[in-house]
Amino acid sequence: MRLVLLGAPGAGKGTQAEPMSRELGAVHISSGDLFREAVRQGTELGRQVKSYIDRGALVPDEITVRMVMERISAPDASKGFILDGFPRTLEQARALDAALAQHGISLDGVVYINVSPEELQRRLGGRWICRRCQAVYHEVYSPPKISGRCDRCGGELYQREDDKAQTVKKRIDVYSRETAPLIAYYREADKLIEIDGEQDIDRVRRDITAALKNCKRT
Ligand code: ADP
Ligand code: ADP
Ligand code: ZN
Repeated sequence: MRLVLLGAPGAGKGTQAEPMSRELGAVHISSGDLFREAVRQGTELGRQVKSYIDRGALVPDEITVRMVMERISAPDASKGFILDGFPRTLEQARALDAALAQHGISLDGVVYINVSPEELQRRLGGRWICRRCQAVYHEVYSPPKISGRCDRCGGELYQREDDKAQTVKKRIDVYSRETAPLIAYYREADKLIEIDGEQDIDRVRRDITAALKNCKRT
């Protein structure tokens, strides 16, 4: 299946993408993870995008679209993909539709995880991520078994610099302005699957699984 996970920063996209990817046999493609990896490796792309990420702004569409399309073209994505954090603007959404249409394919659905702004702040403030495998934890809602260590791979957990309160506020504003219009865009295209993201992690996962059973494949 070819799916998009849509939702504000902290809605739970990364958390849900992992089990979905295993269940559906589709690769998890996170634009944020791809950017952070480029920054870590100090590549040309990493140098171009670092300042945007640090201040909670969006990376320009042209750079973002090029990177994600390249990733989608890799052989492992031909069986299906789950896009997490992309598209984030109408221009990105249109570019994605156009690129898929060129190959005679389209998205099967867009899973929109709906969470209130107050809850987003709580989630991002307590988020910890594994340096090695990018698994996502929360100090209260989803703590690791051993503090500071990843349950899955034993890697070190860290807090993202852009999860500081000031930058979080900015990112949620950017989401409301630039990304929220995609909800109407995909609703009109009859692709939108809305999920109540305020429930606990398992409940959200069950709702997504149930909704996808009814979603028609193209
Ligand atoms: P996103 O990828 O949308 O930014 P994440 O998946 O990284 O969001 O989740 C943000 C934070 O909220 C993480 O700390 C995660 O453990 C926690 N979280 C995710 N889903 C839930 C949920 N349904 N209930 C409580 N906490 C959650
Ligand atoms: P979140 O947990 O908020 O969903 P991500 O890891 O998806 O965060 O994104 C982190 C940062 O990477 C964003 O604040 C932005 O600077 C950049 N970024 C990620 N995806 C995109 C995109 N599709 N368009 C523009 N910038 C992006
Ligand atoms: Zn790990």
